[in-house]
Amino acid sequence: MTLPLLLLIAAGAATPQSVPAAASPRSEAETAAGSPSFLREADYRVAKIGYRIGLAGREFCPEPYPLTGMSLHHLAEYGAADRAKAAELYGLDRGPGVLAVVENSPAAHAGLIAGDVLLAVNGRAFPSPVEMARGRDNEEARPAIEASEAMLEAELESGPASLTLLRGEQEVSVRLEALAGCPARVRLARSSQVNAFANRGYAIMTTALLDFLESDDELAVVLGHEIAHTILRHPAELEALGVPQGGPLRSFGKNASRVRKTEEEADRLGIRLTWAAGYDVTAAIPYWRRYYGKYDRLPQLFRTHPSLGARERLIRDVIAELDGADSDLGTQRPELGEGALRQR
Ligand SMILES: [Zn+2]
Repeated sequence: MTLPLLLLIAAGAATPQSVPAAASPRSEAETAAGSPSFLREADYRVAKIGYRIGLAGREFCPEPYPLTGMSLHHLAEYGAADRAKAAELYGLDRGPGVLAVVENSPAAHAGLIAGDVLLAVNGRAFPSPVEMARGRDNEEARPAIEASEAMLEAELESGPASLTLLRGEQEVSVRLEALAGCPARVRLARSSQVNAFANRGYAIMTTALLDFLESDDELAVVLGHEIAHTILRHPAELEALGVPQGGPLRSFGKNASRVRKTEEEADRLGIRLTWAAGYDVTAAIPYWRRYYGKYDRLPQLFRTHPSLGARERLIRDVIAELDGADSDLGTQRPELGEGALRQR
């Protein structure tokens, strides 16, 4: 997606919003209450739908990605002023924290729970969170924020991994075996901008966009679209073509048509992914209507994005193809039951 709000990406690689920031700092009130918060529930909702899409879409992803069903947060994702609190509340100065564990996922089966802190995988310690946070502040080591997850993924790709973690004061070991799927690294970033985008291998959406959505089906449409950008490696493709991440030059001439092409491809694959995960993809139509209705005054939208009419036609075509495949061939959507998924 990312209609007018390319601004967010344009704002640059180092803005908090463009960091995979599941770890939006929690508010004081919420901290005081110490209870399951709206944000915690929202993190779970996003993690669950991302996981389902990643799992159901595996036929679209020739290179299997190890899905665990847990999402993590990192000290470096918090602003400097919030880090002491993040360390105190979540132990994030010790390692990546488990933010959400999707029910019936590999992480749930391994016994992981929200609040666990990861210390090591297969005996190798994760990079120091404090060092990573320092690097982030100096803008010298931004990729390091994702380093822990990359390390975990690399280990899981070669089979089940032994995870050492901290639960309260206790060190615990669990065996985690991932399921093969699509790279569905999803993040919920706390922001007042209604936006979603794909960046550095992550599908990122904001809390303001979450508020704008009216159902899980719409949320699945949004995540399906952004995960599709990731699968299709659109950010890297556009970068290689010299299309700027934002700014006026993105909206002109060849650049605009290149961006528009990636939008159409992401719509096409995104609808298929969302459908495969069992969501009602017709939700895409009212969603885009509301979205365009809200932002149609922004001129760059029309240069870099398909018109609402074109978008609707494309989506309806894909849905018709899927419905046709369903009835003509008698094909079924993949079962999301556990048994069907134990294949790598
Ligand atoms: Zn898009």
